[in-house]
Amino acid sequence: MSKRDYYEVLGVSKDASQEEIKKAYRKLARKYHPDANPGDKEAEAKFKEIAEAYAVLSDPDKRAKYDQFGHAGADGQGFEGFDFGGFEDFGGLNDIFDIFFGGGGHRRRGGPQRGADLKLNLELSFKEAAFGVEKDIQVPRTENCETCNGTGAAPGSSPKTCGVCHGTGQVKQAAETPFGRIVQTRTCANCRGTGKVIEKLCPTCGGSGQVRRTRSIHVKIPAGVDNGSRIRLSGEGEHGLRGGPPGDLYIFISVRPHKIFKREGNDVYCEVSINFAQAALGDEITVPTLEGEAELKIPAGTQSGTIFRIRGKGVPYVNGGGRGDQHVRVKVVTPTKLTEKQKELLKEFIKLSGEKVPKGAEKGFFEKVKDAFMG
Ligand SMILES: [Zn+2]
Ligand SMILES: [Zn+2]
Repeated sequence: MSKRDYYEVLGVSKDASQEEIKKAYRKLARKYHPDANPGDKEAEAKFKEIAEAYAVLSDPDKRAKYDQFGHAGADGQGFEGFDFGGFEDFGGLNDIFDIFFGGGGHRRRGGPQRGADLKLNLELSFKEAAFGVEKDIQVPRTENCETCNGTGAAPGSSPKTCGVCHGTGQVKQAAETPFGRIVQTRTCANCRGTGKVIEKLCPTCGGSGQVRRTRSIHVKIPAGVDNGSRIRLSGEGEHGLRGGPPGDLYIFISVRPHKIFKREGNDVYCEVSINFAQAALGDEITVPTLEGEAELKIPAGTQSGTIFRIRGKGVPYVNGGGRGDQHVRVKVVTPTKLTEKQKELLKEFIKLSGEKVPKGAEKGFFEKVKDAFMG
């Protein structure tokens, strides 16, 4: 299987600039990417050829060697073969991920690796959520070992270059196939792709360079958060591997219900009871609010179930700019025990209204029914 010239593959001239090479590569990679041509073996082969050409021509050193020695020069650098498993091992190919996956989705074996994001649930009281709170939370996470500064080597020693892969983290493996000799690049098993071996392991972390510990983190919860609110603490997740950046910590808020108030968005709802006379004659009553009490005017003739609004007594908006309202639903409570005097007055009242005195008022209604049956 003879190889096409790398410049020819990318369709650029021998003196093309890095920019032109990159542009040509991106254009071709888009066209022949396996995702854009599912199941198309020819496109896949073409894509591999393009990627391989770019891996060499985008690297000034490798390009110079290729210019001088042709494929033999590049071969000496380990670019004979190409497989998708070894994809990420070609520095220049990271671009392809940026194009198709928006970057971030992949990591290079053996290189720095970003720490994982952490998720933590935090339960708040109704008022803590409404007005904000500061808390120290305990976060179990993986951190860099302080004894060895994350190297994994015992104090006084340092990691040595791997003798198997000579520090590259990769080994080549040749296989004869019906299509010819294919050389694949694989992660070095001796150093697991790090390119370094540790002879004397750090006694604290056992050579991993990382330890588990529970860290107390101070969190400021803003006023107005609600069930399902998410707070991101940048860089407070697990520490990265081999110098990689830490992940983020996400705090998911849940709010305990309140015994009086219900919340809907930034408005709060509560219910208060008033008696028949207050409803009929009107009154000024004291109602609970999130902070202390407030006066509420009940107009004469208020029906049970009427909702009154007290402006600005709800939950503050997370981003500032005021507060929601409080809604008060009044319930008119019917008296259950009346004295004879009260009964008389009520009968008098109903007569004055020009209405029929209810049956229950004469005697206990059920007593009367019972009497009728007993004869
Ligand atoms: Zn250590
Ligand atoms: Zn190695």
